[in-house]
Amino acid sequence: MREQATKGYAKSLPNRSTDKTAVLKMTLFVEKNVLLPRNSKCLMMESIRHIFKIGRGPSSSHTMGPSKAATLVRELTPHAASYEVVLYGSLAATGKGHFTDVAIVDALAPIPVRIVWKPDVFLPEHPNGMEFTALDAQGNALLTRRYFSVGGGDISQSGQRQSDKHIYQYSTMTDILSHVGNRKLWEYVADCEDDDIWEYLEAVWRVMQQSIREGLEHESTLPGGLHLPRKASTMYSRVQAMNTSLQHRYSTPVYAFAVAEENASGRTIVTAPTCGSCGVLPAVLYTYYQQYEHNDKKILHALATAGLIGNVIKYNASISGAEVGCQGEVGSACAMAAGAFCQLMGGSSYQVEYAAEMGLEHHLGLTCDPICGLVQVPCIERNAFASVRAIDAAMFALISDGKHLVSFDRVVRVMKATGHDLPSLYKETSLGGLAL
Ligand code: SF4
Repeated sequence: MREQATKGYAKSLPNRSTDKTAVLKMTLFVEKNVLLPRNSKCLMMESIRHIFKIGRGPSSSHTMGPSKAATLVRELTPHAASYEVVLYGSLAATGKGHFTDVAIVDALAPIPVRIVWKPDVFLPEHPNGMEFTALDAQGNALLTRRYFSVGGGDISQSGQRQSDKHIYQYSTMTDILSHVGNRKLWEYVADCEDDDIWEYLEAVWRVMQQSIREGLEHESTLPGGLHLPRKASTMYSRVQAMNTSLQHRYSTPVYAFAVAEENASGRTIVTAPTCGSCGVLPAVLYTYYQQYEHNDKKILHALATAGLIGNVIKYNASISGAEVGCQGEVGSACAMAAGAFCQLMGGSSYQVEYAAEMGLEHHLGLTCDPICGLVQVPCIERNAFASVRAIDAAMFALISDGKHLVSFDRVVRVMKATGHDLPSLYKETSLGGLAL
């Protein structure tokens, strides 16, 4: 096994030196961490549709999951006169700040809904529990269903994440690169996904652009106890007054601000890979679209590659701030955006791997400590900085000779180990760091 991992590592680095010290270091790393890639012989990763979910912010587990559950209950009870929804545990504790109630009421509208908050009751299956009861006009229960929001907008009745069909044969970048050879990474996505994937990515791209455009227009104060004024609109006006070079540089973080503020306001965005990190990838893609080429097809291919990068991280580590801190959210988003931009600028698959590696590596250790539990500070600025860093990582990969010691797969494993070593204070509990 150790030999296999070392060989895979060496294979993923084209033109790289076969320096024995590097291989030895990797061997020691593998021995120490026992975090080897999973068996790559059977089908493993799910569709990249699970990376890009269209829905309402500010949190995939607090708004998208409950909204999905409410929609299911609504479909099951078309004749209900009213609903009662009990929210339990974490979902109840932070649900008001995250607009869980608004998401549920909207999904069940126009039928009246009574929400009951039980933050002190944790159901044994999962901390994010909710129970829906549909009532008739006399107040008799027609149906009761319990669901759990298990992360990333997914729900289950058992509290366990139910995985979708696995359609990718390879789940490490090393294996994928050696499989695709001189082809592009997006072509591997096309091989594995069904034909509808391009239609789906078109919808994703449409919503991403819409969230930027609308985010640049809205000027209200963000909801929640921090009373933060939105900044994207004013910043955009200031950037427009700058010279062309500065405009090019600073439009990107402003686009990221726009999307992250839309998310914080509970408006429609695309997870990329999560709600909290939803501004990074659209900002980078829109920069290319505005400054280089209006080419939707290339953008869809870049989205496919970004989704593949996110999928590899999700499968081998995590994209959840609650599990590994913000490195798994904003760090993953930066890796996805760096790889996408590198491909758009003509980079080879190996340069894309390098760009993604840098995007994630330089977020290692990033904690999750949102003030007041709102996806606002530090989340919004983090999206902006990661978008700039993603473009820098891509350009650095393009102008370098492509050699690098640390592979993307290795950084993914290190991110997972680092996340597990982080105290829970820094993993979406708002009990440490800036949140104090
Ligand atoms: S700080 Fe936490 S909530 Fe905010 S973007 Fe990062 S992981 Fe998400």
